[in-house]
Parts: sequence; C-alpha cells; structure tokens
Amino acid sequence: MKTYHGSCFCGGVAFEADGDLADGTMRCNCRFCRKMRYWEMRLPDPDGFRITSGKELLAETPASAGSETNDIHNWFCSRCGIRLWTEGDIEEMGGRFVQVCVAALDDATEEELINAPIFWADGANDNWWNPAPETRHL
Ligand SMILES: [Zn+2]
Repeated sequence: MKTYHGSCFCGGVAFEADGDLADGTMRCNCRFCRKMRYWEMRLPDPDGFRITSGKELLAETPASAGSETNDIHNWFCSRCGIRLWTEGDIEEMGGRFVQVCVAALDDATEEELINAPIFWADGANDNWWNPAPETRHL
C-alpha cells in the first residue's frame, strides 16, 4: 500500500489517498463516464482518504445513472473544473467507498499507470459488474 498525492489542475484542491494502482482500477462506458473519460481507483479503506487543501473549492456533479436514491458524490474543483474523486455509501458496492480519479494523482509513476489493471464496467447497460463489450473508444 502506498500513499498517493493528488490535486486538481489549478492546485487549489489537494488530497492524499492510500491505495495501490497495482490492485486495480476501473473504467466504464456509461454516459457520465464517457463524457469525462472516467478512470478511477477504489481505495481499500474509505478512511484512507484525506483532503489536504481546498475543501472550500469543492463542488459536486449531479450523480449519474439511476442514482437519485443512491448516496454518491462526484467532487470536482469549482475553480478549474477538474474532477477529483467519488465517494458514497451504496449497499450493492459493499457500503462506504472512495474512488479517486487516477488522472488527478500527481505522484503515480508512468510505469504504475501503464501497468495498472483496468476493469471496464458495462455501466451503459446497467450491467456494472460485468465487462463492457467494447472499450476502444472510451
Ligand atoms: Zn482547481
């Protein structure tokens, strides 16, 4: 397990996340994820996440597909627009979770990024637990 440091483009928001890219990342083909080229790493423990600056700059994207009843929050920097992490509490996902945007990590090495396993979820078909049939365009 490592501690990664992440931030938005303007540097206003910064965070620390305990996890390991080698344990896997996730991408998805749903409408929301397509628009932002979603790529996230779920932390093994939601408590392994700390905002280190810029809490006052955070804003939230309305949650995606079928989530009106779900507790899910997609945070981004209101100054530069960069999406940073998703957190929530959804029973089907095993309770509380934090997933950080891999692209926001500043100290993930190129090698770690290249070698990070990716699970491509088929969210477009509400089939989140199975792989997307096509991923080349995502
Ligand atoms: Zn920013």
